[in-house]
This record gives sequence, C-alpha cells and structure tokens, in this order.
Amino acid sequence: MDKGVFTLSLDCEGLWGVADHLGGSTQCINQSSLSEVYTYIEDVLSHHSIKATYAFTTLFTQDEADILKYKDIIKSYINEQDEWYKYIYSALQNESLNGWLGRELYLQAKQNGHEIAWHGFTHHPLGQTTKESIVEFEIAESLKIFEKESISVNSLVFPRNDVGHLKLLNNSGFNVYRKGLIEQSRLHSNKYYRVLDELNILKPSQKFKQSKNNPMISLPAGYFLKWPSGAKKFIPSEVTYKRWDHILRSASHKSAQAHMWFHPHNMITAPKMRDTFESIIKNVSTKIQNGELINLTMDECKRYYK
Ligand SMILES: [Zn+2]
Repeated sequence: MDKGVFTLSLDCEGLWGVADHLGGSTQCINQSSLSEVYTYIEDVLSHHSIKATYAFTTLFTQDEADILKYKDIIKSYINEQDEWYKYIYSALQNESLNGWLGRELYLQAKQNGHEIAWHGFTHHPLGQTTKESIVEFEIAESLKIFEKESISVNSLVFPRNDVGHLKLLNNSGFNVYRKGLIEQSRLHSNKYYRVLDELNILKPSQKFKQSKNNPMISLPAGYFLKWPSGAKKFIPSEVTYKRWDHILRSASHKSAQAHMWFHPHNMITAPKMRDTFESIIKNVSTKIQNGELINLTMDECKRYYK
C-alpha cells in the first residue's frame, strides 16, 4: 500500500503577487524582511530535512536590470486593456523595486535542493477568463529564462489559484499542478466556511484522484497554513496544530496527501504563523522517522502517483 505523503509548496512572489493592492499590510514586505523570512523557512526545513516545492514568479527570480528590460513589452499589453499589466508597469516605473527582487531567495532554494516550480511570469492570473495570447506571453518569456538559467521546470502553482489553459500549459512542458481551492471544493468561495474550517480539528487529508480528461496531473489543492487575519486571529495556535496533526495522521492511515501551502511573505505580515509552522514541521519530521509518512515535492508526487 502507498504511504501517506507530506508535500509543502510555497508561492514565492514578493510584491509581484500583490501588485494590485500595494500598501496596507504589504508595506512591511521589502528586501530585508523577505531575505529574513526565506532564511528562517530554510533553517526550519533543513533542520528537519524537509524538501519543499518553491513556486517562483519568474521575474521575481531576476536581477533588477533584467526585469526592467521587460518594461516596454509589458506596457504594450496595457493597450489590450489589461489591468494586471497596468499595475506591474506602474511598479516598474518607480525608482525602487524594494520587495520585488528575489534572485538571492531563488538561488538559495535551488542550491539547497528544493524543487523550483512556476508561479507565472508576472503573476498574471492564467485562468479561463485570461486571453490565450497573454498566457502564451507569460509562458514564452518564462521558458526563455528557464533556458538561460539551465533549469527544468515542470510543476505549476497557478497565480491566485486561478486554473485554466491546461492543454496549452501541458504542451509547453508543464505536467503537474496544485488544484485550485474552488476546483477542489465549491465551499471555499464562502468566507464563513473558511473560518469554520480552520476550527475543524478532525480535518481529513486529501486523496489523489486523476480526472480522465485532464492533460496534466492535478494534485489535491492542499490546505493553506492559517494566516491569522480577521476572525482567524482569534483561533488559538493549539487548534491549528491539532487540525494539522489530524490531517497528517489521516494521510498516513488513508495513504493520502497532506499538502501544506502558503506564501513565505505571510510570515512577515503575520509572524505568529512561525510557531505553528515550526511545530507542524517538527511533527511531520517525527512521523517520517516513524515510517508513517514520506515527504515528496510536487514533481516527485507526479512520479509517485503515476
Ligand atoms: Zn501568488
């Protein structure tokens, strides 16, 4: 019988992912806080020998001078009345890209043997409502950079979990993705459900199930590690720990998957996440040592479930 699997995927994007709502809580995301939090995560993971899938927004992995080369082409897409590129272009017009540069973070993850996955070129949503020409642009520019960097990238985490254009993406070399939350369960569109769900300490793991018509391997959507904002602030860390302990035990008993995900920068805006993260990773590590679980990256899951 297959063993239960623990997978951790991280949406790595700095300010690229929040280009449409800069200000407010995103103000504390800058080069120094990003560097601190990525190092912190790496320290916890390496201490417990856990490998993760770091899904990077491609331009976040590049140097400032290389990013600025795309200014004109991104501007040309604004003419197609594209809101997202308007935000990106206006950021590139600013003198400072503080919070937009993740090259060191990408090199660190790569060097430490984690999987590098794709999270869009500029973090433009790639869902069904996005024009094919835009998805093609996001793919083509990223593939050129992967070639320049000599890396092979086959796993995908959709920006904003907005899933679409699977055939086109598959033809471009991507063959596994993390399902969108709504794709996994319609209930997720309800904010009251999301809060109540965080209180469910009997939360089950998720079984891998491939749908026949899907050209790509679709991994279960996983669970977002609680980001204590709004009503979720009042949920004690112990509840989050118990909930995850149940998810992990359920994965072990049912040969299913416990897939955790979050954005590293969430730990800048909500430092309290660190305590739960550390205790859950420690629990995962103990269960791996006891032979109850195995740790796989998204790419490894693809081979494991095939
Ligand atoms: Zn994102």
